[in-house]
Amino acid sequence: MSTYPCINIHLNRITENTKNMVASCNAHNVIPTGVTKLACAYPEVGQAILNGGIKILSDSRIANLKKIRHLDAVTMLLRLPAVSEISDVIEYADISLNSEAKTLEALSQEAVKQGKEHKVILMHDLGDLREGSFYDEETLALSRKTIELPGIQLVGLGTNLACYGGVEPTSENQTRLVNLAKQIEADYGITLQYISGASSAGLNLMLDNELPNGINQLRLGASLLMGIGLNDEPVPYTRQDTFTLTSEIIEIKVKPSVPVNSTALDAFGNKPEFIDRGLRKRAICAIGKQDVDISEITPINKDVLIIGGSSDHLILDIDYCKKDYQVGSLIEFELSYGAVLQCMTSEYITKRFL
Ligand SMILES: *Cc1c(COP(=O)(O)O)cnc(C)c1O
Repeated sequence: MSTYPCINIHLNRITENTKNMVASCNAHNVIPTGVTKLACAYPEVGQAILNGGIKILSDSRIANLKKIRHLDAVTMLLRLPAVSEISDVIEYADISLNSEAKTLEALSQEAVKQGKEHKVILMHDLGDLREGSFYDEETLALSRKTIELPGIQLVGLGTNLACYGGVEPTSENQTRLVNLAKQIEADYGITLQYISGASSAGLNLMLDNELPNGINQLRLGASLLMGIGLNDEPVPYTRQDTFTLTSEIIEIKVKPSVPVNSTALDAFGNKPEFIDRGLRKRAICAIGKQDVDISEITPINKDVLIIGGSSDHLILDIDYCKKDYQVGSLIEFELSYGAVLQCMTSEYITKRFL
């Protein structure tokens, strides 16, 4: 495995973000869970989050929860369990988010079989239209079912916002969740441990003191790992310089900026277009679209321009650069959420924990 490209992961900064978010949340009677999916649940990152004072690690995928099973954390499965993976869900997740009766029955059966008590948070859809029951009666019926089934325990009510439908967490929709939780508690004579209102997208509302009483859990991924929340905007008390990408230059040459007799489609079947800027000094880096969407990465040196790429090559215009780049020099990039996700997932990108 070559050293470059590599994604640089600043674990201490992730821990620092986590400490600050835990403190902010605690001041509002919220206990956050840490979400590891952006980092594919690399145990180093999971531990960095735990070092910041988080007790529950949550992830969308069972394959990721398996990777962190040796860490000292309660585990929570964020994506609704698939019926075909129920035995692993009971084995690797202490808590799961649910919205289907058939899945609850399968969880119950498997929990009894494995001699475990599995905890369930029911998902209610407040309008973002991803997972969860849309109608109160449906969530009430699922609550009754969860309470009646052996081996599983109803511990909370949750909702997901700002993921598919772009619906912001508001005091109005969060209050609806709290009220529904109160109704479940009253109807069935139980206490719900968790009222899980939102992801990092709910932090603004909380910091503005507008999160209603009763919401006691937020599920935080992007804010801990990248310092961003609603609309990918920076979250107060966090830093954003947690991940960068480094790639190596393999060619530097002066060339025209328009191809010679361009008539064919490019490697991805698109008709390329070019602006004539005359002769330019260009660099090629050993990274490409198989590694990361090149429109989601930004050179930290603002004099470096990305002009294109193919599966394995990134072409840069370095004509404006004051810095004297050579073959073998390294170029560093900032990354969007999507780019971090791709770089963490790619087997071709080295993970460098700092
Ligand atoms: C991904 C996810 C989160 C975390 O979202 P961030 O924006 O990264 O904080 C929370 N809840 C659920 C259900 C998720 O799928």
